[in-house]
Amino acid sequence: MAPRAVRRLPTRSCVACRTSRDKHDLIRVVRRPDGTVQADPTGKANGRGAYVCTDVACITNGIERGTLARALETKIPAGLREELVARIETMSIEGGARGQE
Ligand SMILES: [Zn+2]
Repeated sequence: MAPRAVRRLPTRSCVACRTSRDKHDLIRVVRRPDGTVQADPTGKANGRGAYVCTDVACITNGIERGTLARALETKIPAGLREELVARIETMSIEGGARGQE
């Protein structure tokens, strides 16, 4: 018998495409209490967070259309897109390694 109550994973929605996903499939961007905006790969940093898909298109759209800035209620620094893109490339490498187990 399969257990009736499936453990529900927390979901978050991407600020760019509004798709709800398992939060592990999104990357969190955080506005720290001191006002800096950065990628938050742990998902636990203090501050106001917003999520985007681990997808270059969503990162680009979220930044260029201003949805990420609105979600965080702050301006997005110039280097953030590059930082996020670099981060998802690392994540996809790690995810691929896990998938081979
Ligand atoms: Zn998205």
